[in-house]
Amino acid sequence: MAPSIDHDIPVGPIARCQVCGSNDLELIIDLGHQPLCDSLLTYEQLKEPEHTYPLRFLRCLKCSLGQIDYAVDGSTVYHREYPYRSGVTKELVEYQRESSQTTVSEFAIEPNSLVVDIGSNDGTLLTGFKAQGMRTLGVEPTNIAKIANDAGIETIQKFFVEELAREIVQDHGQASVVSSTNMFAHMTALGEVTRGIRALLKDGGIFVCEIHYLLEIIRGNQYDTIYHEHLRSYSLKSIIVLLEMYGFTVVDARQVNRYGGSLRVYAAKGTGHPVGDSVGVLLALEEEFGLYRRDAYDRFRENAKIARGSLVSMAIEAKIAGASFVGNSCPGRSSTLLNYCGIDRELMPYIAEQPASLKLGLHLPGKHIPVVDNEILFREQPDYVVLLAWHYWEPISKQLRERGLQSKLVMPLPEVRVLDIES
Ligand SMILES: [Zn+2]
Repeated sequence: MAPSIDHDIPVGPIARCQVCGSNDLELIIDLGHQPLCDSLLTYEQLKEPEHTYPLRFLRCLKCSLGQIDYAVDGSTVYHREYPYRSGVTKELVEYQRESSQTTVSEFAIEPNSLVVDIGSNDGTLLTGFKAQGMRTLGVEPTNIAKIANDAGIETIQKFFVEELAREIVQDHGQASVVSSTNMFAHMTALGEVTRGIRALLKDGGIFVCEIHYLLEIIRGNQYDTIYHEHLRSYSLKSIIVLLEMYGFTVVDARQVNRYGGSLRVYAAKGTGHPVGDSVGVLLALEEEFGLYRRDAYDRFRENAKIARGSLVSMAIEAKIAGASFVGNSCPGRSSTLLNYCGIDRELMPYIAEQPASLKLGLHLPGKHIPVVDNEILFREQPDYVVLLAWHYWEPISKQLRERGLQSKLVMPLPEVRVLDIES
């Protein structure tokens, strides 16, 4: 089965819906030209010009896919030193363990079955599958693959393409489970990857993917999750359209907490598999929320502008009053937020990061704010600390308070507010 639409998206401007090919695209928000959010700069690179690309978020009026309309070359986005490592946060390790257990138990995956994770990062998710007696294999293009291999999770350091899928089948047999947490939103080679997943899976095998959920982005005013790596933000409706074109049946779908609101979709290879109630329930929720109508998106754009105005006002007022205003944590989304808001190092002199972070010593793209060890927070006790990883505000604020931070903790979104947490 080959869909009539080419899902391998060429680099550059995109004129048609990335899933259904429709021309009926409507602009939701224009975030301006922005640098790649994870291309943090060394001190030496600050002396060189910096690339920026258009960052506009649109929706398809036909299949309701949220999407940006400019594709940056994957090898530029995922350079080999790409600094994201999933095992770093405790919450994520726990979350990944739960994810693997749910998949194995609910789909009755037999021990010793092959599980392949695409975009496997440091192998955290596969560690969970391995603990349940599965054979595991990771595919990860960046140098983080070495960390996984060193930890005993066999990982191929390559981009996942159809040919690699066939090689894996030759060497290891077909997989019972193929997972892709979040990578599925990233790929320009969507057709190539989906064909590869189909080749890799047994008939009836399960493809599990996790994607930023359009519903939560819109409902939660999470405009900061829009960046060049996130080519697509799926509604359930749009991912069903896509996977059906490749001969999959979406059999289950659920909302999960990762990154402040993701959608986990289980699709069985082949047509006519029984579909769980969750699918219909979630589609009804999308309809009821207004995900297929314009007014929800108009509200989203207005809220983004209001939050920008409030954060900038707070930063400027702090500056005038002689108060210090800094950032904490440097997730990819902080780049979109600070570049869209136009907050530079004069308004925010540094971003504090945990000591294990690979981003320490580098500078935020675009605004060039230095990323420093968060030890500085406890020494300097700034007046305001903006929680740039605001989707994890609870564990982060708790930890900062426990370590003795007395600063006002600021949520930049969904609306700007100072957290009411005792110091
Ligand atoms: Zn579409």
